[in-house]
Amino acid sequence: MTAKILDGRKLASEIRSEIKDRTILLKQRGVTPGLAVILVGEDPASKVYVGQKEKGCLEAGFASFLHRLPESTSQEELLALIERLNNDSNVHGILVQLPLPKQIDPDTVLAAILPEKDVDGFHPVNVGRLVTGLPACEPCTPKGIMRLLKSTGIPIAGKEAVIIGRSNIVGKPVALMLLAESATVTICHSRTEDLAGHARRADILVAAVGRPRFVTGDMVKEGAVVIDVGINRLEEGLVGDVDYEPAAERASWITPVPGGVGPMTIAMLLENTLEQAEKTASAAR
Ligand code: NAD
Repeated sequence: MTAKILDGRKLASEIRSEIKDRTILLKQRGVTPGLAVILVGEDPASKVYVGQKEKGCLEAGFASFLHRLPESTSQEELLALIERLNNDSNVHGILVQLPLPKQIDPDTVLAAILPEKDVDGFHPVNVGRLVTGLPACEPCTPKGIMRLLKSTGIPIAGKEAVIIGRSNIVGKPVALMLLAESATVTICHSRTEDLAGHARRADILVAAVGRPRFVTGDMVKEGAVVIDVGINRLEEGLVGDVDYEPAAERASWITPVPGGVGPMTIAMLLENTLEQAEKTASAAR
């Protein structure tokens, strides 16, 4: 079998075009969606991500409030800024770009964002809502993965889903979302025994490890849907966590890197921000 390409760029562009249309309607009601992004320090990858988010906001017709703070920023200074943004009615979403410098505790900072402005979906209240199946602001990368999976039209219920990676940002939330869609879910991690054996059972295989070409072709079940979340910057360019060519020979669908999950993450961030702005507009009526 040769896999069909699960084109995140195309799907994300369709979603962004819908977002643009909804933004025009919302602006007619007097509300402009506003996203505040906070970047602390000079991490090169973070700068790239923040630039993409700002560009995405402007293209969608949103107001973008970028706060660049020096590496030496104290936790108190950052918390004071978040407090200001929590109280600013022009700001519907607040995103603190991770990682943060050593002197700042990310958990304290993420918990300080109002849950309804937490468009990254990392606040403990949103995580708890996700766990219990209540409506939540869902984290962007896992939400994007679910959209990609659903776009294949392949039913998720009853399928074996194997996730490699157990981070709070990708692995754990995507596992919860797959469970909510009634998949049978296995989470593999650095201490998993016989990881390849687990992977080979997967109808849906999600790789979020951060190791180039970690998933080899022989770890992919014939006909599986393979979602490669990994972004590894090598001299040859961006490489995913999946060894693409051999995996694509066995999979039914596969996401490329770049052009798979990455573009979906930004589209979901914009969608989360728009949804929060729409809620405030409805509440004001
Ligand atoms: P992380 O480092 O927080 O987590 C990696 C996970 O992989 C850990 O849970 C660890 O247990 C597991 N792991 C590490 N080595 C392993 C091994 N040898 N065997 C099995 N499991 C192992 O990373 P993360 O934030 O979840 O990101 C994972 C990858 O996804 C990275 O490449 C990151 O850049 C990428 N990412 C992409 C997007 C996107 O928008 N496309 C978003 C977030 C993260």
